[in-house]
Amino acid sequence: MHHLLRRGARRLAERVLNSDSASLRAPGRMAEKTFDRLGQRPCHSSSGEAVCPAMTRGIDHIRDPRLNKGMAFTLEERQILGIHGLIPPRFKTQDEQLELCRISVERYQEDLNKYIYLVALQDRNEKLFYRLLSENVEKLMPIVYTPTVGLACQKFGLIYRRPRGLFITIYDKGHIYDILRNWPEPDVRAIVVTDGERILGLGDLGAYGMGIPVGKLALYTALAGIKPHQCLPITLDVGTNNEELLKDPLYIGLRQKRVVGKDYDEFIDEFMDAVVKRYGQNTLIQFEDFGNHNAFRFLDKYRNQYCTFNDDIQGTASVALAGILASLRVTNTRLSDHKILFQGAGEASIGIANLCIMAMVAEGLSREDALSRIWLVDSRGLIVKNRPEGGISGQKQQFAKDHSPVKTLEDAVEILKPTVLIGAAAVGGAFTPKILQMMGTFSKNPVIFALSNPTDKAECTAEDAYKYTNGTCIFASGSPFPPVEFKGKTYNPGQGNNAYIFPGVALGVICTGIHHIYDEVFLIAAEALSQLVTSEELKEGRLYPNLNKITECSLHIATKIAEYAYKNGIASTYPEPKDKHEFVREQMYNFNYETSAVPLRFQWPDISQLKI
Ligand code: NAD
Repeated sequence: MHHLLRRGARRLAERVLNSDSASLRAPGRMAEKTFDRLGQRPCHSSSGEAVCPAMTRGIDHIRDPRLNKGMAFTLEERQILGIHGLIPPRFKTQDEQLELCRISVERYQEDLNKYIYLVALQDRNEKLFYRLLSENVEKLMPIVYTPTVGLACQKFGLIYRRPRGLFITIYDKGHIYDILRNWPEPDVRAIVVTDGERILGLGDLGAYGMGIPVGKLALYTALAGIKPHQCLPITLDVGTNNEELLKDPLYIGLRQKRVVGKDYDEFIDEFMDAVVKRYGQNTLIQFEDFGNHNAFRFLDKYRNQYCTFNDDIQGTASVALAGILASLRVTNTRLSDHKILFQGAGEASIGIANLCIMAMVAEGLSREDALSRIWLVDSRGLIVKNRPEGGISGQKQQFAKDHSPVKTLEDAVEILKPTVLIGAAAVGGAFTPKILQMMGTFSKNPVIFALSNPTDKAECTAEDAYKYTNGTCIFASGSPFPPVEFKGKTYNPGQGNNAYIFPGVALGVICTGIHHIYDEVFLIAAEALSQLVTSEELKEGRLYPNLNKITECSLHIATKIAEYAYKNGIASTYPEPKDKHEFVREQMYNFNYETSAVPLRFQWPDISQLKI
C-alpha cells in the first residue's frame, strides 16, 4: 500500500515537473513544436528543467537550484513531493520572494558582499536569481558583471564556494573530451571560455578569471533568456605570469608560468575539437578576455571552422557602431560623411574600425575609400607607414596611412579634424580640454566616445565633454556617468555596454543553428540596436535604449539575426519558422515558477485567512 502510494505520488510529481516553460507560455502543442524545430538535439523545454523526473526525489526540489521554489511550493506540491513540513507553513509568491531579495541585496554595504549574496542565490534558487537580475538590470548588472566581477575575480580564491563551470588545465591535454563529459548537462549550446590572461583591465588573473565566463553566461540567461542548463563557463588554466598570484596562498589555479607556443596552441585546438565532439558543431564558443596577441589569432583561425566569436573584439565593435549609427539620426548624416579617429589600436579599436568599414561599404563606399576615413593612434603616435619608431604589426597594418609621423593625439586631432573621436586605450583623461574644444569646432555635433574602463581610465568625463564642446557633442562612454546639467539642459550620456549585443547575438545564433558567425551578424545587431533608441531618448542625449529594456533589445537583435540567417541559407534549424520573432520568443527561458493543478491528498483551511 505504502509502495503504491509512493508510486502514485511519483507519477504526479512527474506531471509537476513536466509542466515545462514553453508549454506554460502557450499550452497545447508548443513544447512539441519547439522540440521538432531543434531537430535531433533534445530540447530543454521538452524535458522539464533537464532534470530527469524519474531520478528526482522530493527533497531534490529543495536542494536542486533548478527546481527549488522556496516557500512558493503550493500545499499540493508540498504533499506530492513529500516536502510538506520541511519548509515554513507560509506560502510566498515569487513576487514576494523578489522583494525579499531586493531588500537583502540592499542590506549589504560592500559590492563584493552583494556579489556573494547573488552567487549564493543562484546556487539556491535559479529562477529567482535570474528573474531578480533580469528585472533589476541597472542595479545588479554592475554587481554580477563589471565592475564588481573584476573584484570578485581578484578575490576568487577567497570567495569560491561551489563548483560552477569547468576548469581544464594544460595537463588535461589529451583528455579534454573526458573532462567535458564530466559536465552533468548533456544539452550545452553556449560556452564562454577564457584563459584568464587579460581579465577586464586587470591583466593576468589566471584561474581567478573564472568569474568572467560565469558572469557573462548569467547575462545570457537574464538578458536573453538562454536557458541556464545550456550554458557552460570554462576556464582554461595554462598557468599565470602574475607574480602576486603565484605567491598567493589562496590561489586556486596551476602555480606555474603560462605555457605558450606550440603546446598552448595544440591545447586550444584540442579544446575546440572536444567541444564539437561532445556538444555538436554549432555549439557557440565565445572567447573572452584572452590576451591581445591570442584574441585576434584565434578569431582568424577558428571563425570559419567553428561557431565562435570574440566579444572583446566583435561585441565591442557592434555596440560602438550602434551608438555611432544612433548619432547619425541626430546629425542627419551618413557614416561615410565622417572622419573617425581612434585613440588606441587594440581589440576594441580595431574591432570597431573594421565594423565601421563594413558599414561604410554597405552604404556604397569602396573598401579603400572607407579605409581612408579611419585613422588610429597607438602608444607610439599616429599609425602611418614608415613610422620612424619601427614597423606596424598585424591588424594595424591595413590602417597605416601615407602620412608624415604625428606623435601625439592632440596633434593628430588638430591635423586630421575628425568628426568622430573614439577612445579605447585605457589612458585616463586622454581627451584634454583642448582636444574637446577643437572637436567642437570641426562639426556641429561632434561624436565623442570615451570607452575605456573603469571610470578613472575614461578619456574624459561626460561633464567635460559637454562643457568643452559647449553642449554640442554626442557622447557615450564605457563606464556609466550620471546625467549632466549644462546651460539649463540635462544630458543623459549613453553607456556603450557590450551587454546590449552579445546576449542577443547568442540567442539568435542558438535559435537558428548558425554554424559560423560572420561579421554581418554584428552589423545587423548594431543596426537593430540603433533603431531601438527612441527619438525622445536621442533628444535627451541617449544613444542606447534604457538598460531596463535590454531583454527586448536581445529579442529584437535575435529576430533580425534569424531573418538574416534564413534569408542567406545559413540557418540549420528547419523548417523555417514564418514568424521569426515568435519563434525566438518561444525558445526563451521562463523566469516564473512552474505550477501544477493536481489533486490533494488532504485539505488545509484557506491559509491566507490565517495570521501566520
Ligand atoms: P587592448 O590592450 O587590446 O588595446 C589597448 C590599445 O591602446 C593598444 O593598441 C595600445 O597600443 C594602445 N595604447 C596604450 N597606451 C596608449 C597611449 N598612450 N596612446 C595611444 N594608444 C595607447 O585593450 P582593448 O581590449 O582594446 O580595451 C581598451 C579599453 O577599452 C579598455 O579600457 C577597455 O575596458 C575598454 N573597452 C570598452 C568597451 C565598452 O565600452 N563596451 C568594450 C571593450 C573594451
